[in-house]
Amino acid sequence: MTARKLDGKALAATMRAEIAARVAERARRGHRPPGLAAVLVGDNPASHVYVRNKHKACQDVGLASWVQTLPADTTQAQLLDHIGELNADQEVHGILVQLPLPKQISEDAVIRAVAPAKDVDCFHPENVGLLAAGHPRFYPCTPHGVVQLLHRNGYATVGKEVVVVGRSNIVGKPLAVMLMQKPTLANPAGGDATVTVAHTRTRDLAAVCRRAEILVAAAGMPGVVTPEMVAPGTVVVDVGTNSVNGKLVGDVHPGVWDVAAAVSPVPGGVGPMTITMLLVNTLAAAEKIDG
Ligand code: NAP
Repeated sequence: MTARKLDGKALAATMRAEIAARVAERARRGHRPPGLAAVLVGDNPASHVYVRNKHKACQDVGLASWVQTLPADTTQAQLLDHIGELNADQEVHGILVQLPLPKQISEDAVIRAVAPAKDVDCFHPENVGLLAAGHPRFYPCTPHGVVQLLHRNGYATVGKEVVVVGRSNIVGKPLAVMLMQKPTLANPAGGDATVTVAHTRTRDLAAVCRRAEILVAAAGMPGVVTPEMVAPGTVVVDVGTNSVNGKLVGDVHPGVWDVAAAVSPVPGGVGPMTITMLLVNTLAAAEKIDG
């Protein structure tokens, strides 16, 4: 194993200490703590773990955090009413509705119901549009985590050939948008890279991936990125979280560590960064709403 580890756990700890300091400074100036309300519908075990981790991360940095668990048979109208109450609640600066939702509820309707100013996941079409236009209100958490993991480990993206495997609305698509944009004061995380997005209809995925100087795997398929697909010296970010025989693994084959310059591990790579970016957004929401 020769690649350097892109340690998301360590960077997340550093960034959470920075957030805690800013939250404490706001408290000294008389502001109430930034508050995140998480809504969980039903009993998906993975969702419960995600929400618990987010709740703990909030508490660790001094954010107020509420977890509201609704029964699996909650109707869409009931959930929308609930979101309406959170939209109006001045203690709540960020709202996250944990996905997936039970089948009687439209995810699209729920995403549109969250007030854009409190949409710390950056899923609302208004916020997606602002991001695409280069004037982000928030950055989406997982893509922002990937960008920070690269930049704060000294891997500039400017002018680089970047390949993103995956085009979902949550990871691949917004990450590609962020990486290709020109950085500006309004959009400091713009990556200035040359970006290729690959997916299941891509011809010769291996050849496309070998072009990459920075390769991001966000396919949700264990081992989809093999050593043959990686040019020596590539920086590889593994977003995948897959359960294989009860073990959490990424999308990157272990043999890639022998070829790449740096690889983010799973677990301990992008996962802790995603939660950290949620804290960043909740603090940013409070700064915008309360001043
Ligand atoms: P998704 O909605 O299932 O999208 C997967 C994308 O990968 C799709 O665009 C799909 O292409 C593409 N893809 C799948 N298999 C492929 C293959 N063999 N070759 C090329 N492209 C392929 O998943 P997602 O929500 O983006 O999540 C991706 C992975 O990241 C999952 O493992 C998820 O659990 C993980 N994740 C981790 C975090 C974290 O914080 N660590 C956060 C979010 C997601 P098509 O569009 O053609 O179907």
